[in-house]
Amino acid sequence: MTLIVQKYGGTSVNDPERIKIVADYIAHTKNRGNDVVVVVSAMGKQTDQLIRLAKDVSDVHPGREMDMLLTAGERISMSLLCMALSELNIKAASFTGSQAGIITDTFHTKASIVEIKPDRVVTALKDGFVPVIAGFQGVSVEKDITTLGRGGSDTTAVAIATALNADVCEIYTDVSGVFTADPRIVPNAKKLSSLDYDEMLEIAANGGKVLALRSVEFARRHDVPIHVRSSFTWEPGTWVKKEDKNMEEALVSAVTHDVSEAKITATKVPDKPGIAASLFRELADKAINVDMIVQNTSTDGNTDISFTVPRTDLETALKVTKEVLPQLGGTEVLADSEVAKVSIIGAGMKTQPGVTALTFETLAGCDINIEMISTSPIRISCLIRQDAVEQAVQALHSAFDLDK
Ligand code: ADP
Ligand code: ASP
Ligand code: MG
Repeated sequence: MTLIVQKYGGTSVNDPERIKIVADYIAHTKNRGNDVVVVVSAMGKQTDQLIRLAKDVSDVHPGREMDMLLTAGERISMSLLCMALSELNIKAASFTGSQAGIITDTFHTKASIVEIKPDRVVTALKDGFVPVIAGFQGVSVEKDITTLGRGGSDTTAVAIATALNADVCEIYTDVSGVFTADPRIVPNAKKLSSLDYDEMLEIAANGGKVLALRSVEFARRHDVPIHVRSSFTWEPGTWVKKEDKNMEEALVSAVTHDVSEAKITATKVPDKPGIAASLFRELADKAINVDMIVQNTSTDGNTDISFTVPRTDLETALKVTKEVLPQLGGTEVLADSEVAKVSIIGAGMKTQPGVTALTFETLAGCDINIEMISTSPIRISCLIRQDAVEQAVQALHSAFDLDK
């Protein structure tokens, strides 16, 4: 029997009508003789609303309490979906992350899964139920409720698919697959029929939020095929899987953009060994993910270090940098949230010169200044002003013929 994990995002279960439509499709999949496990996100923008509520009540947000609050959203959708399934005579049972055996570390609001003990889910499946699991949440090794970071239901789905050795993990969302750019910004972006894990990792890590980064890391490590598809049209979507020999290595597969980072600059830091190490060690110990880094060449024995961090971590990162800087001999710390990162991603660029040149020429042609650059073998990223991001994405998308 085929075992299918189906994950439904917030828009897919936005309101009672949508929950009934999704229940119908699950029933249809089950009645065709498949085993189905469902992972569900909170309805619509409920997670954002819960975060707003927390801000309205207090300026202090202890991680443990934030996680307890945020997991409530998925509890609502999972139980409602089970009720809608019962109406269709499908036996269904909801499970919180903790009940589904998702064990995490203790980093509240961005916990990582360390182990999965899906015994209750397995028993429910054996008894003919459709288990409906709350996405985005788990229980820590210290028995506190945790969440897996924004978009974390994708990670729950892939993790459960791995633990149950499912045949496929289907991610249902509001677009029909992974596109050559965010279709909200580039209306003529094209759907990709398949991508390998490495390209999808770069897309997810650089703003293509159609899949959460951790979910792709998980899928690559355990070789779980992901099928990203629409819960509005149900048409075949994009397959994310291990590269096969026939897969064409496109020069450029996608352009992504990311407006979720901020830039910090530490000025006039002595240019000597160990300085960057001390600063980035302190940031790492606070679980802050540093992305791009630029260190200016020193003239008078001093240097400026600029780096980007998630905006959600800006406050903490600034505090850490300000604390460390005097010990290092630096003078000033500047923060800038008006930045955006645009990236060009494609497995084919490994072997083809000219991609960097065309990227820079295209941005220059739009009079867009590049503030920072970072690369991987299959990616080029440029940090630019946030107000130029749409123009940059559209120009790069057409410069690399992605609309053809
Ligand atoms: P869900 O709530 O279903 O998890 P998300 O909002 O997290 O949905 O992800 C889907 C959204 O990702 C789309 O609506 C789209 O705007 C955005 N997106 C960004 N980049 C891409 C891309 N390259 N391809 C498809 N969608 C993308
Ligand atoms: N509800 C969570 C969020 O909005 C998790 C998810 O949707 O994947 O981030
Ligand atoms: Mg998502």
